[in-house]
Amino acid sequence: MDQISTRQSLPAEPRDFGFYVDGAWVPAAERAVFTRHSPAHDVPVTRIPKCTEGDLDMAVDAARRAFDDRRWSGLSGQARAAVLLKAGALIRARAEEIAYWETLENGKPIAQARGEVLGCADMYEYASGLARSLHGDSFNNLGDGMMGLVTREPVGVVGIITPWNFPFLILCERVPYILASGCTIVVKPSEMTSATSLILAQILTEAGLPDGCMNVVTGSGSTIGQAMAEHPRIDMLSFTGSTAVGRRVVEAAGKSNFKKLGLELGGKNPQVVFADADLEDAADGVAFGIAFNTGQCCVSGSRLIVERSVADRFAEMVRDKLSRAVVGDPLDEATQIGAITTEAQNRTILFYIEKGKEEGARLICGGGALDMGQGQYIAPTIFGDVTPDMVIARDEIFGPVLTILPFDTLDEAIAIANDTDYGLAASVWTKDIDKALVVTRRVQAGRFWVNCTLAGGPELPLGGFKQSGWGREAGKYGVEEYTQIKSVHIEIGKRRPWIA
Ligand code: NAD
Repeated sequence: MDQISTRQSLPAEPRDFGFYVDGAWVPAAERAVFTRHSPAHDVPVTRIPKCTEGDLDMAVDAARRAFDDRRWSGLSGQARAAVLLKAGALIRARAEEIAYWETLENGKPIAQARGEVLGCADMYEYASGLARSLHGDSFNNLGDGMMGLVTREPVGVVGIITPWNFPFLILCERVPYILASGCTIVVKPSEMTSATSLILAQILTEAGLPDGCMNVVTGSGSTIGQAMAEHPRIDMLSFTGSTAVGRRVVEAAGKSNFKKLGLELGGKNPQVVFADADLEDAADGVAFGIAFNTGQCCVSGSRLIVERSVADRFAEMVRDKLSRAVVGDPLDEATQIGAITTEAQNRTILFYIEKGKEEGARLICGGGALDMGQGQYIAPTIFGDVTPDMVIARDEIFGPVLTILPFDTLDEAIAIANDTDYGLAASVWTKDIDKALVVTRRVQAGRFWVNCTLAGGPELPLGGFKQSGWGREAGKYGVEEYTQIKSVHIEIGKRRPWIA
């Protein structure tokens, strides 16, 4: 796969998209259209239809028909695997194109976007194996007259609502696993970043996915998203986004058909650094953990909990690392930190930076917007002397803002790490295996990293403890999540009569 250049050009015109239902594009036609501007370049890049609730019904009906007539769930695992493998190959072949539109709508560095897209191809390849190995259980110990089976069946029509921070990656942490299970899908991407979800739908048709199994409806969260949560013919909803909207989704599901929910919500993730860690390694990891994707990352390591004896030296090491990160035009191959994706998020991050200053935290670096001539950028920011009660230590900022909380003992480190409503992810940095294991066991988080951070892949599941969510995506757990279990009792020979 060739890279087009070291600095791709902007599109001459914004690209017009329709939405995707029953294996075909539906043109925007007379519908209102949302024009998305590149957050890094301030120019219009895509035009996306604002779908209506009628459009959503059309997509749900298509997914419903495709599920109920068994055109997908009735296929063998081998046949489903073949489609997933082909999808992986097509994603690889179109990685440059997908990365380009992801970067334009999101503002993330093109090299990072490319890496994410290639990682997504791997997820389809991995999930193809799961389509073939998914199975239930059997009971051969019920006596000579009875045998028991436990079978897994696909849940049905699954809605997926995604956020704007990893539009393609988060979608692909779900779609191949859901398809492996035999379900059909209706997606609503974030209105800020719809392009690559739409491209994916077309790729899946090309890969041989039967019509109606993957539908994408674009539009706002308050209309289409809310209508999906309330929809009586959607059997399960995978929602990824803020904890506040997640709460609304739970209420809507309860008021409609009690659809099964998967929730991947916010995080305020601790990075626990002991004095005996390889501090050079840890400083690089902590800098990466807070600045990757400009900190707009649910698993970003935003709370540095560091042993007091090395706290000042370590803060200086992280500051030095961040000062050398390349911030700039995300279309440039060398860029490591791109733009802030939405204007609202830009305002939120700047609000929290001011809050940190007001609360009396010590500003170590950054502290505001970066003027790059165009687009919206924020300097990686570190606050020292943070106390656990400060707002910047408690709220998810979702930006490149690191708060430092020192500790003296292992128990204190664990208590600070757990002093949050969230439980999405955590890291520990130490050369002492006992400390690493104690922290791994006692810190409440769905994902844990030892002497690394933000590592991932299709094998290991994702999901949160506490208010970070319900359920798991990816790995074998990610397929099982989209199945329901049926137990089957089979009489062997003549039944013992109830009335003789
Ligand atoms: P958001 O909650 O504002 O929006 C997420 C999605 O929900 C969007 O598609 C939006 O249109 C839709 N939505 C908005 N209102 C809705 C409603 N009433 N009903 C149904 N859907 C609605 O989140 P965001 O700003 O796009 O993303 C940032 C948040 O997402 C952060 O809190 C972050 O931690 C979280 N996130 C979590 C994970 C994870 O895996 N845990 C991953 C990425 C992002």
